[in-house]
Parts: sequence; C-alpha cells; structure tokens
Amino acid sequence: MKKFPEISFQNESLRKHSSFGIGGEAKVFMLPKNEKELIQILQYVNKENINVFFSGSGSNILYSDDGFDGLIISLKNAFKNLQISDDGQILAGAGVILVKMVSKAIKKNIEGLESLAGVPGTLGGALFMNAGAYGAEISNYFISAKFLDLDGNTKIIQNRDVSFSYRASSFPKKHILIEANFKCNVGKKENIIDNRNKFSNSRKNSQPLQYRSAGSIFKNPIDNYAAGYLIEKAGLKGMVKGNAMISDKHANFIINLGGASSNDIIYLIDKVREKVFKKFNVNLELEIKLVGFKNG
Ligand SMILES: Cc1cc2nc3c(=O)[nH]c(=O)nc-3n(C[C@H](O)[C@H](O)[C@H](O)COP(=O)(O)OP(=O)(O)OC[C@H]3O[C@@H](n4cnc5c(N)ncnc54)[C@H](O)[C@@H]3O)c2cc1C
Repeated sequence: MKKFPEISFQNESLRKHSSFGIGGEAKVFMLPKNEKELIQILQYVNKENINVFFSGSGSNILYSDDGFDGLIISLKNAFKNLQISDDGQILAGAGVILVKMVSKAIKKNIEGLESLAGVPGTLGGALFMNAGAYGAEISNYFISAKFLDLDGNTKIIQNRDVSFSYRASSFPKKHILIEANFKCNVGKKENIIDNRNKFSNSRKNSQPLQYRSAGSIFKNPIDNYAAGYLIEKAGLKGMVKGNAMISDKHANFIINLGGASSNDIIYLIDKVREKVFKKFNVNLELEIKLVGFKNG
C-alpha cells in the first residue's frame, strides 16, 4: 500500500477505530480523503485481490485481538457533504456523523429522525445497518444511495432495489456506500424537540453511556421479550469476565471496563446465548459484527 502514503496506516491498532476500544492491528487501515482516492484504492484492491473490509466509525463492531489480516477502509474522516432542504430532502455523504445529520434536520423542523439522535457512527454505517430506535428506522426515509464497486464504478441503488429488515439491509456485497438521499416531512418544532428530548433522556437513563461499548449486542428476538429482559431474567446482569461486564444498567450492553480483550467479550456473548437458550429456548442473534475472528 506504498502507493497511498498519506492516507494509509500500516499495522494500525483497531482500538482507536472502534467504540468498544478493543482490537488488534489491521495490516493496513485507510482513510481516503475523497472519491478519486477511494476509486484508486478500490481498483488496486481488486487488481491485487486484497482482503478488504469497509468500516464507518466502528460503533457496531467487535474487532478481534488478532487484528485484521488485510485492508480496512473507513470513510469517517471525509465524505462529509450534508445538504438539507427546507422541505425535508436530505443528501448526506457516508462519512457524515449521524448525530450531526439528525441535529441539523431538527434545526430545520424536519421530523422523523429524532429517535436516532443518540446513535453513534456514520451515515454509511447507519444505512447499512438500518439503524433504528424507539420504533423508527433510517430506512423509513430512504430514497436512493450511491455506491462504488471494486472496479471503481458507480452504482445508484433506489429504494425499490433494496430490502431492509431489523438492523440489516440487502445492499450488494463488496460495494462501498458513499452517499445517500432521504426524504422526511416537515413538522412542528415543539413536537420534534419534545420527542428528541424524550428519546435522549430515555437513552441516558437506560444505557451505560459512560463506558465503551458497541450498543446492543443482540437483536431483540421477534415475538418475544427484548434481549435485555431475557438476559436479565437469566440472571446474567453484572456478570464479569476479565475486564468486560454485562452491564448492570442495560443487560443487552457488554461494556469494556478498561483493557477488555475481544475474548472477554466473546466469553460473555457465549454465556448469554447458552443461558438464554437453556432458560427460554430462544436463540439470540448478534446485532454487532465480528471482524477478524477465524470463524466469525
Ligand atoms: C452507545 C451506543 C448506542 C447505540 N445505539 C444504537 C441504536 O439505538 N440503534 C442502532 O441501530 N444502533 C445503535 N448502536 C450501534 C451503532 O451505533 C450503529 O449500528 C451505527 O449506525 C453504526 O455506524 P458506524 O459508522 O459506526 O458503522 P460501523 O460499526 O463501522 O459498521 C457497521 C456495518 O456497516 C458497514 N459499513 C459501514 N460503513 C459502510 C460503507 N460506507 N459502505 C458499506 N458498508 C459500510 C460495515 O461493514 C459494518 O458491517 C449503538 C452503539 C453504541 C456504541
């Protein structure tokens, strides 16, 4: 990767690039500054058949302590174009911080995104994950997105071409999202601010936000209680392994008490799955992505 000296970091610690603050080294980590650079990188990756992973802010990822034997490309430092019109049309680059997009939309009396006000990460990660909270999902407002494939070709994907489900999207594999369009409605300022405050307070009261984490570890099972409830009722709240703990504030959060290893987190994940299955016959599915693990 000597071709890209300014934006390419060799043996880069992934702790710096994940909200968990956990992870070994990526062989190479790249922060392209613009589309032209990104295209050159993708074409190089394709030609050399390099193992590549696309990341935003790493707020939904557990990186392995073994690191990642390949290239990670993150758009979090660029692709910040953000345009919001008075009638609720939004154009946002993949590197835009979601919280910023939401607060700018709220300032313009645009409603619908209030529940996402506290979701960390980039717009790219949010759309890919179909981020949501308190009954709303970012896909509710999605119009179209611009992707690049590994040849550096642009692909526009319209709403009708993609399906979204709970914390998942069907966007094509090995394509990197670079910008997206949304359409929201204009609403009443007082209602929007009230909603935003209600959701933010609920987060502060229910989530262990003073610790590093990746948010909810498991998806809430369909037709059952929330994952956090099941974990709590299985008696696992507060369980500690090494420097990681199943939060005693919100049982679906595993927190890094400081210096936790990826194995500490995996141990707790396995424990939760085993105990919840035993007690409730429910198979909890991971919401977070595991990256760099041998069989993950
Ligand atoms: C305290 C806390 C609270 C949270 N609360 C919520 C919540 O309420 N609701 C919720 O949905 N999530 C929540 N999360 C999880 C996380 O914030 C979201 O999933 C977020 O949208 C991920 O964005 P990111 O940029 O960090 O993506 P990353 O974690 O970097 O990546 C997530 C996925 O998106 C893919 N991806 C990222 N960028 C691109 C791109 N440009 N092109 C293609 N693929 C890409 C990655 O490959 C990966 O599979 C929370 C996390 C924390 C730490």
